[in-house]
Amino acid sequence: MVAGGSERRASSWWWRHWSLWRLPRAALGYVLGVEAVALCAVLTSAAVLPVTGRHLVWFAVLAGAAVVHFEAARGLERVREVAAEGSPYAHPQSIWLFAGVLVLPPPLVAALVAISYGYGWLRIYRRSPLHRKTFSASTVLLGCWAAGAILYAAHPDQSLPHAAQLDGPVDLGALVAAGIAYWLVNLALVVGAILLTSPTRPGREVLGPLSQQLVIAASIGLGTGLAVVLVTAPWVVPVLVVTMLGMHLGLLLPVYRTAARVDGKTGALTATAWQEHAAAELNRAQATGSPIAVIIVDLDHFKDINDTHGHLAGDHALCAVAAELRRQVRDGDLVGRLGGEEFVVLLPGAGLAAARQVAERVRQAVRVPLTEVPTTGPERTLRFTASLGVAAHPWHGDTVDGLLLAADTALYQAKHHGRDRVEVAAAGAAGPVL
Ligand code: GH3
Ligand code: MG
Ligand code: MG
Repeated sequence: MVAGGSERRASSWWWRHWSLWRLPRAALGYVLGVEAVALCAVLTSAAVLPVTGRHLVWFAVLAGAAVVHFEAARGLERVREVAAEGSPYAHPQSIWLFAGVLVLPPPLVAALVAISYGYGWLRIYRRSPLHRKTFSASTVLLGCWAAGAILYAAHPDQSLPHAAQLDGPVDLGALVAAGIAYWLVNLALVVGAILLTSPTRPGREVLGPLSQQLVIAASIGLGTGLAVVLVTAPWVVPVLVVTMLGMHLGLLLPVYRTAARVDGKTGALTATAWQEHAAAELNRAQATGSPIAVIIVDLDHFKDINDTHGHLAGDHALCAVAAELRRQVRDGDLVGRLGGEEFVVLLPGAGLAAARQVAERVRQAVRVPLTEVPTTGPERTLRFTASLGVAAHPWHGDTVDGLLLAADTALYQAKHHGRDRVEVAAAGAAGPVL
């Protein structure tokens, strides 16, 4: 009874445990400030324009396309987001959001952003802290507002959507300016947050690879085309949507497939290489009826290691953990780096009990302090821990994605229960996913 009471009391303070509060003071103020401005922008625009039936139809089309897009690209986006850890990640949905700016009144644009980010978080980015996605949604929203303001200045008549009024070179200029404003406001706000949370990060990494920015630019262009078709020839929209999805998956999948197979920093397999090997091993296990297990390892509070001892020390720790993982498992087991400070191990032939034992061994090994580490301070010893999630076929899924999802959920539980621990997925924790 007492435990139940304290649990209730703890749960009424659940918001106190948000990782948001662990941000440096300046970063916290910045993040909350940006979110407050975005919220004010939404509230003040709520009564600006009447929402008509046609708007609702366009809204439904764009929201539906956004959801289908996420479902089709689910596996790919999870890998892309982890790979972009620590630098701006090009949210793939700018096509629908920018099209929204061109055809919808501001309140529906806000609803579209909320659906896009809310749905994405629920289905793909669940393990990213919610505050990050809330912040990203706020920056995108402010980008939409900046673009909308420019278009409004060009054509204050609100009886027609912007997309139906674009005509002539001056409007082309307004459209380009709106696209740049959407992109720049978003990028500047995100880079500001990264600089405040990770001041030691090298400048080039903060801006991220050019390819991510090109994805945004292309999405803005495609969104413009979609908006124009939406208001002039709505029946052509399904053709466009399917074409865009085909291009997104068709262009990006091979890129991620042919990316380097071994991670340069740690020597572990890259996420895509690991996934391919794992799929082949899983097929073999299914054919022979033997079990196969997956362990996901995530270092605890790794950001603090970087912040306190510098990135070089962080990199040193990542290499040491990868080496330790290889030492702790057998030759045929596959060690991969999912991205950032997340590793994954595939254990062919291992059932749940064996996999849990290995995970426990890894956890103990990671706890052993590292000495002679190149830190920024006088302390040369590094202490850190890891949380681990375990799942295995046939208990938790028949696909690599299903097993990863189950192990990921168990890892989430390990974090939730205090870190530095191993959690095994609940029976039937995950079904197959796309
Ligand atoms: P949690 O216990 O919840 O996992 O907290 P965390 O700090 O480990 O997790 P979070 O996802 O907030 O931070 C991960 C950090 O890992 C942030 C990023 O700067 C760091 N990181 C990612 N990749 C690298 C890398 O290649 N080298 C170094 N040094 N740090 C990295
Ligand atoms: Mg971590
Ligand atoms: Mg992590």
